[in-house]
Amino acid sequence: MQITNKLSLPQPFVDAVTREYQYKDKQYSVTSMLKDIREILLTRRHNNEIEQDVADMIWLILGTAVHKVLEDSKEADTEFKEEHFVEEVENGYKLSGQADLYNAKEKMVTDYKTCSCWKVIYNDWEDYRKQLLMYAWAFRKMGFEVEIGQIVAVIKDHSKTKAKVDSSYPQYPVYKKIFNFTEQDFTEIEEFIKSKFAEIQKYENTPDDELPICSEEARWNDGDKYAVKKKGNKRALRVYDTLEEAEEHLKQEENLELEVRKGEDKKCLEYCSCCQFCNYYKENCERKEEENG
Ligand code: SF4
Repeated sequence: MQITNKLSLPQPFVDAVTREYQYKDKQYSVTSMLKDIREILLTRRHNNEIEQDVADMIWLILGTAVHKVLEDSKEADTEFKEEHFVEEVENGYKLSGQADLYNAKEKMVTDYKTCSCWKVIYNDWEDYRKQLLMYAWAFRKMGFEVEIGQIVAVIKDHSKTKAKVDSSYPQYPVYKKIFNFTEQDFTEIEEFIKSKFAEIQKYENTPDDELPICSEEARWNDGDKYAVKKKGNKRALRVYDTLEEAEEHLKQEENLELEVRKGEDKKCLEYCSCCQFCNYYKENCERKEEENG
């Protein structure tokens, strides 16, 4: 990865995000397995050409700082931390990763995160749950017992004022989320890991532009919305998720009109590091950005 420093931040900032990471053939990390195939392969193929600016990587520095402080603590006798693993799955493909803490007494793997308060408000933990479950699956393969997964998330945009006036808002700037894993969860995650590796094998030699487009969900696109408005008005009377619902509304009143609001690919636009090598981005997002000035 090429690191740029548009704000001329001090060198320690640059050093903090500079990592010499060498991808290993047929070895994929737990976090990369959570991405769609196009992003996985484009990131890997273009690793040395991808450009990122230090200023856009500040949250990464914060996340690393939190990990650094917490990993410096002395673990209990029944705990070990930062255990890096490489687990062979099938056809030579290997899963690698590193959980922050394992507690043998509690049969629990823990991962530390930094997140936005929306994660807690929307109870949106599926990606973290899957990540923990892959760690737990690998630990079990290595002979350790795991039944529980724990996320300890530092909420980086927490507001004490909001916490005081809204009881549904996270009350503290840190949040603990526990998952009890069942045998069914372990069966499902093994199927997920194997099917992901099968997909990687299938597309490994496919040219960039022919890779399957990331799903709407992976592009963080909520889908098109249908606004019903009084003719000539800018504001919508109501916004629907489906065209059918909007058309039903149009039938009930006169002088109404429909406006289709295209869903935005938020990930492609703001958060995908390999977007410059993605023809979907170039055709659908880059052009839109240029049009909007
Ligand atoms: S730019 Fe969008 S479609 Fe392309 S790889 Fe990234 S997330 Fe996927």
